[in-house]
Amino acid sequence: MQINVAQLLKAPIGSTRDYEIKQVIDITGDGASSLVQGKVRLLRTDRSILVKGTLDTGVELTCSRCLSPFNYSLTINIEEEYYPTADVDTGAAMPVPDEPGCFTIDENHVLDLTEAVRQYALLAIPMKPLCREDCAGLCSYCGHNLNRGPCGCSPRGADPRWSELSKLQKKKGK
Ligand SMILES: [Zn+2]
Ligand SMILES: [Zn+2]
Repeated sequence: MQINVAQLLKAPIGSTRDYEIKQVIDITGDGASSLVQGKVRLLRTDRSILVKGTLDTGVELTCSRCLSPFNYSLTINIEEEYYPTADVDTGAAMPVPDEPGCFTIDENHVLDLTEAVRQYALLAIPMKPLCREDCAGLCSYCGHNLNRGPCGCSPRGADPRWSELSKLQKKKGK
């Protein structure tokens, strides 16, 4: 996701360039690839290039309830400043702000969006992802995925073997 911004760095402050993004990257770092698509606008500021845009992508997650893999779609609203490390006219090294996690444009004037997109996407992933809002989860007795229909031991299906057990459990409870 690399953009050469040499021309934009030479342009007057306030100049903009629009780019279409369509690229596959590894967001979660586990070798899976996600297609990232959308538009970004690059704005030349007095000290940096400001990147703003909206990107759509998807990652494969594991449902926290039924443990099935599913594809989770997410939209990233990116807004990041990229600081040049080299002067575009002279090639001289330029100081960058002393901020942790600050993004830079390399000495060849290439701005790479990949890391920012990765970070934004990771923040957008829920802690306890669900394959769907009403995921029925797994049967706590037999482990059957209840999204695929009931199993023999569901409480209403009243498997006699389990009703004996639940009587015992009720006794214990008292
Ligand atoms: Zn699920
Ligand atoms: Zn079951």
